[in-house]
Amino acid sequence: MPREVEPDLFPELTPARRMGKKGGVGTTKGEESRPDLLEVLPLAGVDHALAYRIPPHLTGKIKPGCLVRVPLRNGLVLGIVERLGTDQDVPDAKVKNVFELLFPDPILTTDLLALAKWIASYYLAGIETVFETMIPVPVRAGMAMKMERLLRVGKLALTEEELAGLERRAKKQAAVYKFLHQQTKPIARGLILSRLKISPATLDAMVEKGIIEETRQENPRVAYSDEFSDDETAAATAVGAFEINEAQRAAIADIGASLAAGKFQTHLLHGVTGSGKTEVYLRSIRTALANGGGVIYLVPEVALTPQTVGRLRSALADSGTKVVVWHSHLSAGERFDSWMAVARGEARVVVGARSAVFAPVANLRLVVVDEEHEPAYKQEESPRYHGRDAAVYRAKLAQAVCVLGSATPSLESLLNAKQGRYKLNRLPERVDGRAMPIMRLVDLRHQSTKGHGPAVISRELAEAMRERFEKKEQSILFLNRRGYSASLQCPSCGFVANCKNCSVTLTYHRTDEKLRCHWCGYQEPAPRRCPQCQAEDIRWKGYGTQRVEDSAQRVLPRAKIVRLDADTMAKRTLFRQILGDFRKGKIDVLVGTQMIAKGLDFPNVTLVGLVNADLSLHQADFRAHERTFQLLVQVSGRAGRGDKAGEVFVQTYTPSSPSIQFAKRADFDGFLEAELAQRREFHYPPARRLIRHLFRGHNAEKVKFYAEQWAKRAEILLKDAAELRGPAPPPLEKIKTYHRYQLWYFVDSITRIAPLLRQLRQEFPLDKEVLETIDVDPVDLS
Ligand code: ADP
Ligand code: ZN
Repeated sequence: MPREVEPDLFPELTPARRMGKKGGVGTTKGEESRPDLLEVLPLAGVDHALAYRIPPHLTGKIKPGCLVRVPLRNGLVLGIVERLGTDQDVPDAKVKNVFELLFPDPILTTDLLALAKWIASYYLAGIETVFETMIPVPVRAGMAMKMERLLRVGKLALTEEELAGLERRAKKQAAVYKFLHQQTKPIARGLILSRLKISPATLDAMVEKGIIEETRQENPRVAYSDEFSDDETAAATAVGAFEINEAQRAAIADIGASLAAGKFQTHLLHGVTGSGKTEVYLRSIRTALANGGGVIYLVPEVALTPQTVGRLRSALADSGTKVVVWHSHLSAGERFDSWMAVARGEARVVVGARSAVFAPVANLRLVVVDEEHEPAYKQEESPRYHGRDAAVYRAKLAQAVCVLGSATPSLESLLNAKQGRYKLNRLPERVDGRAMPIMRLVDLRHQSTKGHGPAVISRELAEAMRERFEKKEQSILFLNRRGYSASLQCPSCGFVANCKNCSVTLTYHRTDEKLRCHWCGYQEPAPRRCPQCQAEDIRWKGYGTQRVEDSAQRVLPRAKIVRLDADTMAKRTLFRQILGDFRKGKIDVLVGTQMIAKGLDFPNVTLVGLVNADLSLHQADFRAHERTFQLLVQVSGRAGRGDKAGEVFVQTYTPSSPSIQFAKRADFDGFLEAELAQRREFHYPPARRLIRHLFRGHNAEKVKFYAEQWAKRAEILLKDAAELRGPAPPPLEKIKTYHRYQLWYFVDSITRIAPLLRQLRQEFPLDKEVLETIDVDPVDLS
C-alpha cells in the first residue's frame, strides 16, 4: 500500500519578525541596510529565508524571484531570491556567497512571490511545497531550452584554389562546403547529414578546421501547439460572426472600465447557459492585450483546454498574440519552454487548468476563471489551495481584474457579490433569443418496476428519446455514477460486497465482470453466487452508467449509443474522438457521468435526461443541495443550444426537494436566499469559514485517541477564535486501509486562526502512526 504522506503539514513556524512584515518582497529598508547581501528561500526543508552575499560577478544581475544555487550545510541547494538586502542580523564571517544564478530573468514575478507566501500562510502549507507547485520540475531542474545545432560556412571563405584542392582530397567536405555556400542562413546539422548522406565525423572535422562554423539556436518546444487550432467551434465563434447583445455589451463595458482603472476588481459574470459568456471573456481579453497586458484564463479541467484554446486562437489570430497551453499533461520540454515563453513575455495569454494561475505572466491585467463553481479548482493535495481564490488573490496582488464566470456561481461568490466585494454582471438570457429548455420532473415513485429493481429510464423519458431519434436530433443521458450497478447485495442473507481497504461498497463493472473500488482501485471477479450463503439470485442494487447505456439501447435498438465516463476518459484520444463523432452526428445518444456536462456545446442536442437526480442530493455534505441545483441547471444547459428548443427530463424520488424545485423554475435568487439561510443556521460556509483536520492511521483506536487529545488542547488554545466539532469519523471512515477521524474548526477569519494552529502544531507531539491533513476551505468532505 503506498503511504500517503503530507510532507509539509504544519511547517516550521516562520520567525515572528518576518511574519509581521507586510509584503516583504524587496523592501527598501533592507536594501539600504546591506546592499551586498540578499535573502534566499532555499528549497531544502528550511522554510524561511537565509542571508547570502552577492559575489562580484553577479552584482546588479540578481533580482527578487530569481532562481539561484546556494551553499547550505555541506552541499548546494536551489533557492528563490526573496529580496535584495537584508535586515537579518548575521555576522559577516558566516555569510556565504551565492554560488550560481540559473536563469538571467526572475522565474517568479513579484506578485507570484507574494502569492506563494499568501498560499503558504493561508492554507497552512510549507513555502517550499508551494514553490514546488508553482515552478515546474524542468525549470527547477535548471533545464535549458532545446538547442538546435546549425552550420554555415566559415568566416574566411575558401578561395577557388583551396576549394579545388579540397575537392581532390575530400570530396564529401567539398560538397558540404558548396551546399552551405549557396545558403542565405545557417542550416540544421541534422538536415545536412541526411541530405548529403555524410557522417557526423566529416562535419566535425570541417568545424575543427574552421571551414564551416557551428552556431546554436533555441528551438522551442512550446505548447503553442496548433494541435487544436482546427477546432470546429473556432470558426463559428470568430469575432465578427455575430453582434453582441445588450447584456453582453453592458458586462464588457463594466469589465472594460475596471481594466481602464488599472486597479484590482473582481467581477462575477453570472450568465445562464448559452448566454455567451465566452464572448465577454474574449472581448475583455482583447482589451487587456491592447493595453500591453497579460492574461490568464483558467478552465476547471484539462479536457476543456482544447476547445477554449481553439476559440482564443481564432479570436486573437489577427493580433498575432501567442496563446500558450498550460496543464499537467505537457511533456517536460513543453512545460519548460512554455514557462520560458511566458516568463520572457513572448506569450501573453495562458490557458490552463488550476496550476496556470501560477504562470509567470508579466504585467498581468486580467484573470478569467471559467465555471468558477467547479470543485475541480480545489487542489486535493498540499498545498490545498483553491484555484479560484488564488486567482482572485493574485489579481489583487497584481492590481488586475479578475472575472469569475458561471451559470451557477458558488454560494461563496454569490455572497461576495451580494455584499459588494465583487461586481455582479448578469447575462439573464440565451443568445439569439433562444429559449431556455423546459424542465420536466419525472416522479420515480409512480413508475412501475415490474419487480426488476428501479426503472432506469422512465416511460416519459423513453418516449421523448424515440421522438428525437425519429427527428434525427440528439440526446444526452447523465448519471452521476460509473460502472454497471452501484453495489451487490444478496436478497437472502443481505450480504453486500465491500472493499477490503475502504469503507465503501464495490461497484459492478459488467464489461469485464469485475467488482471495483472507485477509491483505491481494488478489484475482484464478480461472484455468481453469494459468497456468504451461496444463494444464486444475488442482485444488483442501484446502477451505473453501463446499465444506463444498456437500457438506452433497449429503448432505441437501432440507435448508435456511446458511453463517456472516467473509464473512457482514461483514454484521452478516445474521449476527443467520441466528442468529435457526436458533434458530427454519428452518435445519437451520449451516456455519461456529469463530467461530460461541463461546457459542452452541441447545437443538435434537444433532449437531456438526468437519470437519477437524487444521487447528489443524498450525500453527507453541506453543499449537497447546492451541487444538486448546479447539476440540474448545468445539465439542462446542454439542451437546446442550437436553433431548436430543448427539453430536460429529471428523474427523481423527491420531486418536491427545494433544490430541484428552484432549478426547475430557474430561480437563482430564491435558491440563494433559502440556501444561505440554511448555512447561517448551521454556521456552514460561506456564513462562516471552515477548516477540516483529518487524522488517519492503521490503528483506529490510536487515531481516535490522538485526535481527541489534540481536540482537547485545541479547545483551550482556540477558545475565542474557533468553534470545534468532532473529532468524529467522516463519511468515509476507512480509505485505502487507513482509519480516519476528523475535526472541524468553524472560524470567522482564517488569517486569525492559522498562526494559532501552527503554534499548536509546534507544541503538540507528533505520532509516527497518525498522519494528518489540514484542509482550509475544504471542498471534498468525504
Ligand atoms: P456560455 O459560455 O454562456 O454557455 P457561449 O459563450 O459558449 O455560452 O456561447 C454560446 C454560443 O453562442 C457560442 O457558439 C457563441 O459563439 C454564440 N454567441 C455568443 N454571443 C452571441 C451573440 N451575441 N449572438 C449570437 N451568438 C452568440
Ligand atoms: Zn477501496
